[in-house]
Amino acid sequence: MVHRFAVDKMLGRLASWLRILGQDATYGAHLSGRTLVRHARTEGRVILTRDRRLSRQHTDVPLLLIASDHFREQLRQVLTAYPVDPLDRLFTRCARCNDPVIPVPREEIADRVPPYVYATQTRFVRCPRCQRIYWPATHVERVRREIESFSHPPCVLRSGT
Ligand SMILES: [Zn+2]
Repeated sequence: MVHRFAVDKMLGRLASWLRILGQDATYGAHLSGRTLVRHARTEGRVILTRDRRLSRQHTDVPLLLIASDHFREQLRQVLTAYPVDPLDRLFTRCARCNDPVIPVPREEIADRVPPYVYATQTRFVRCPRCQRIYWPATHVERVRREIESFSHPPCVLRSGT
């Protein structure tokens, strides 16, 4: 399941985490206020914002008013409202650009990653926009722990399916 979000410019860390989980989250310095609403309406996205005024004004666009200042609580709130399997699509998008990443042959990136990483990892992906290389396996455990730390209770996240 991929949700489509339009993330207010004040919630950058939340946007990055949603992307790491494979969710489609647009975000940018220009996305706030009316511009954010217009963007979300045009692209059929759910607005994530801490802007109370915005949440009162625009009832025609789905909007989740984020309650906390802390990104763990923010992410927990979003995943409670819009449950996803956190590991299902892990590292399928670029955390920086939101573009879906594509698998890249190991040989092609030999000079682009640290030697230790190259020696120990077999699976690499690349962002077609910024060319950033990811090696998902290294981060899966960390992300799993991070998510487990805020997913209970209530546990809305499935695992092992
Ligand atoms: Zn990128």
